Order: sequence, then C-alpha cells, then structure tokens
Amino acid sequence: MNIGVLGLQGAVREHVRSIEASGANGIVVKRVEQLEELDGLIMPGGESTTMRRLIDLYGFMEPLRQFASEGKPIFGTCAGLILLAKHIVGYDEPHLGVMDVTVERNSFGRQKESFEADLSIAHVGEGFNAVFIRAPHIVEAGEEVEVLAKHNNRIVLARHGQFLGCSFHPELTADNRLTAFFISMVKEAKEKTLA
Ligand code: GLN
Repeated sequence: MNIGVLGLQGAVREHVRSIEASGANGIVVKRVEQLEELDGLIMPGGESTTMRRLIDLYGFMEPLRQFASEGKPIFGTCAGLILLAKHIVGYDEPHLGVMDVTVERNSFGRQKESFEADLSIAHVGEGFNAVFIRAPHIVEAGEEVEVLAKHNNRIVLARHGQFLGCSFHPELTADNRLTAFFISMVKEAKEKTLA
C-alpha cells in the first residue's frame, strides 16, 4: 500500500514515520506525477493559505481533484482539513472543496496557539492524545458525514466517505492508531476498485 504525504509545506516527515510504523509505504509527494503511484494521500498540517499558494504554483489543484474523483482516500490533518472542506467560515471559495463540512480556522479561542487533549475516537479507541496547533474545527457536518470525535463539544474528527479530516496533529505522537485507521480506509477503497 502506497500512502503519499503532500510534501509542499508543513509536518511531512512525521506523517511518513507514522505511515511506515503502520506497515505501509510512506511517500513524500512533491511532483504531480507521483500521485499516480498512490493508493491514498495525507494532506498535512501547516498553513493552509501557504499550502494553497504552493498547490497552485506547482499545478496540483486539478490533479488532486482528479485523485479525489477516482474515489481515492484523502486524510487532511489540521491545515489539510481546511484544504478538503467544502466551506470555510469567512471565505467565499473553498480550496479542494470535496469534504462536506464547514470549518472555521484558528477557532479555539484562548487555547488558540496550542494544547493537548485526550480524545475518545469512534472505531479507533479511547485516550488518544491529540496535539492541537492553531487548530480549526468543524462547525457543521453534512448528512453523509460521520462524526468520529469531539473536544469540548466541537467536532475535531470526521469521515465523509473516502475523506477523513481532523483538527489536530496525529503524527506528532507515537500513537499511530488514527494513521492505521486511515490505512484501513485506503485498503477498503483499493479492494473495492479491484473487485
Ligand atoms: N492555522 C492553520 C491554518 O489556518 C492550521 C494550523 C495547523 O495546520 N497546525 O491553515
């Protein structure tokens, strides 16, 4: 199983480590052609506006939309979630705009800069230590979206079909359960296309 990490900006290496620790191949993606060899893609945390500029600069927007339209799974973490979302509070246009959620950037008030929280995650387990850094949260989720975790009553992890998005940085701890969950989604999607 080949899992790419969009390597234009942000926490890239840490995701690769987590993917490898979960038994799949982790590939840093810097060129559009690399998307072809992937079964799934992680869009990391960082700064969504900077990442968007680089996505445009290197011609990634259409190829990423194509990747999504082929049914391939994408996991957006933090800034990556903002890139996936169909709606962003205060913005007229989304970035990729494929996951049926509305997100608000930098939305944890006084805890805005960074904090950690223990989450209970559906299908994954209890006591997941999540690191939030200038994190967004999901203010609204569409009908087909499954909410997988909340913190202080805010949605911080959700799945919409082939798309998984979280507010926090799962790659920054040694707990690889969420990465493993994403890899199981990728495996499922791959088996579907082969069937
Ligand atoms: N605040 C960043 C943004 O709006 C996201 C922060 C992160 O990815 N850690 O893009």
